Amino acid sequence: MKKPPVVPLVIPRSAAVANGTAPGQVGAKPRPSFPVQLPQPVVLAQKPRAGGSPPPGAGRTQTAAPVARPLRTNTSPVATGLGMDSQAVRASMVRKLEAQGISSPQVLAAMRAVERHRFVDSALANQGYEDTSLPIGLGQTISKPSVVARMTELLCQGRPEKLGRVLEIGTGCGYQAAVLSHLSREVYSIERLRGLHERARENLRWFRLANVHLLFGDGMLGYAKGAPYAAIIAAAGGNDIPQAWLDQLAVGGRLVAPAETDAGRQNLVVIDKTSTGLVRTVLEAVLFVPLKSGVG
Ligand code: SAH
Repeated sequence: MKKPPVVPLVIPRSAAVANGTAPGQVGAKPRPSFPVQLPQPVVLAQKPRAGGSPPPGAGRTQTAAPVARPLRTNTSPVATGLGMDSQAVRASMVRKLEAQGISSPQVLAAMRAVERHRFVDSALANQGYEDTSLPIGLGQTISKPSVVARMTELLCQGRPEKLGRVLEIGTGCGYQAAVLSHLSREVYSIERLRGLHERARENLRWFRLANVHLLFGDGMLGYAKGAPYAAIIAAAGGNDIPQAWLDQLAVGGRLVAPAETDAGRQNLVVIDKTSTGLVRTVLEAVLFVPLKSGVG
């Protein structure tokens, strides 16, 4: 891909962030109907049910595929041992994020609202609010809160209103998607590992986030049906930013993703699509799981 010229932006630079393991609004466009499908393979997304109380251990979707080792879900406050106290622990996590330089009130509010401990195995729930990445199964990790907050703040920077449609590549356990649901009108989140796609669906059922649409497929292709996107975020890093993401970004939109830089290291990269072209800014070093093509 031909790299656009690098133009410095006013983006606060914080200390290097690792996930722990090593302007503008989109114009009105009709939403795709559901279930939605990615080109290959077939994808089924199920809208969360409307109304009623959250159903711990609610039934599986028709699309659930057998996985070799069942991934455990964590929907019970009793099982986590955190219960109602999790609110105080989250408030403490948010104070630490503020101390680390996160200043957007909307982002801080979203981080305060989403119960991270519900996205990890119950055995790890007591670490749910530590600034650490945690295993979520199938060799993948949930990014640490400071990375989620940092990337989310970059996405929202200069855009005090809710974002329009947002595309996330790498649903994982669904935590980042839940955070984004508070800050945008619609979230489309793609995962290439069916076991995690299903687990995210289970995790998110509790929250009844009607604006989160989970897709199973290869996120390197983006999701053209939802384009153009006000924002695109990836939690997995490749050699470069796939062209499909750049094509599907709205003019005035922003992309935040880890990518390999010339030095062969991973950095957080911000790409703004302006009316005159792409503006690419390389930020701090990060360490994310690899972006892989195809599905598994
Ligand atoms: N945002 C997630 C982080 C998960 S880790 C969370 O909050 O939990 C990154 C995820 O990206 C992994 O689940 C991995 O399977 C997924 N991934 C890697 N390459 C991908 C691709 N091409 N398409 C979709 N997902 C991909």
